[in-house]
Amino acid sequence: MQEKKYIGMLGGGQLGLMFVQSAQKMGEKVLILDPDRDCPAGKIADKFVNADYLDTEALKTIIENCEICTTEFENIPYTTLEKLEEKINVYPNSKALKISQNRILEKSFLKKLKIPTTNYYEINSPENLKPLEEIKDWPYILKTSTFGYDGKGQAIINNFDELLKSYKILGSDNFVLEKKVNLKMEVSQVACCYKDDIVLLPISENTHINNILHKSKVPASITDDESKKIEDMTISIAKNLNYKGILCVEFFISKTEEILVNEIAPRTHNSGHYSIEGCDESQFDHQVKICKGMEPIKSSLKNSSVMINLLGELWKGENINLDDLKKDEIFLHLYNKKIPKHGRKMGHFTVINDSVEIANQIADEVYAKLKK
Ligand code: ADP
Ligand code: MG
Repeated sequence: MQEKKYIGMLGGGQLGLMFVQSAQKMGEKVLILDPDRDCPAGKIADKFVNADYLDTEALKTIIENCEICTTEFENIPYTTLEKLEEKINVYPNSKALKISQNRILEKSFLKKLKIPTTNYYEINSPENLKPLEEIKDWPYILKTSTFGYDGKGQAIINNFDELLKSYKILGSDNFVLEKKVNLKMEVSQVACCYKDDIVLLPISENTHINNILHKSKVPASITDDESKKIEDMTISIAKNLNYKGILCVEFFISKTEEILVNEIAPRTHNSGHYSIEGCDESQFDHQVKICKGMEPIKSSLKNSSVMINLLGELWKGENINLDDLKKDEIFLHLYNKKIPKHGRKMGHFTVINDSVEIANQIADEVYAKLKK
């Protein structure tokens, strides 16, 4: 039998890229599977399989070469994970993936755990629309139940007529219609789920622009009581999904101080990128260690950190001047994507400082210059 020398990774985007970087730093080899020939992680992987996630030969290659397989993308068919699970360890498990890739399953799972979410209605057929004419407390947000990311498949709805229009435009069979929360803050927490232990990374405070994450600030400006509630919910979710691997929970804190779970991401998360420089071990280091069955150590915050995403629109033509990022306290990550499309995540930078206010100020100043 062939020696199984690779960690398998389904998905070769930037999360896969940073996973490969962590793994190689620890002396591990990674096999990436991605249908995109030009994907960022494929270029540096120790072995790159360029095929569809349902390709039987590709899955055979993973089983032959890997004892363990992990993911970086939540829209991988869960049936792929089911097939791999018959032969090798797969973190996250297929059930957790299935729940978190469907907003209706996700919300009913949270309801069972008595974890608060936004109020919502399910729309699974045109007949479900009529009763919604009675809604008085607009605005709501219409979201496709599956395949949403970075705000895609969503529309803000201010009245019943807009609902009917967006229902047609978004063109799906299954939706949730979610009450739009009057947000005080958005936060998220990454949980690193080892075999017998969960390491929680510090909670980050997140700002979105056009529904895409713009900035993560750590530590978040929340109370100890809020932190405790968030941690308890994150742990409850991880335990009840029987989760192994990296999980991120996104939370809303409303102006009325309610803490609601927005969604669960069954993977490393953009809001956890600060951990590369901000923590003793990053979310990607933990993912590698979990795959290798290593023992966890607590991942505390070394310094306050502010991370800002670099989206395609910052590239004027094909160019961007990144000279202002060449400073000791600023760490730049570029994802080696060829075409800087609008809204595409091309890279990020993290500012590290003893003071979160100063880190935030530096990050904002640098970003303002890049935008000019
Ligand atoms: P995605 O899967 O695209 O990340 P989310 O459901 O997390 O989708 O929505 C993206 C962003 O849109 C959220 O982080 C938040 O800023 C905003 N948003 C989504 N749902 C709501 C809501 N019910 N109330 C207020 N803001 C929302
Ligand atoms: Mg989200």
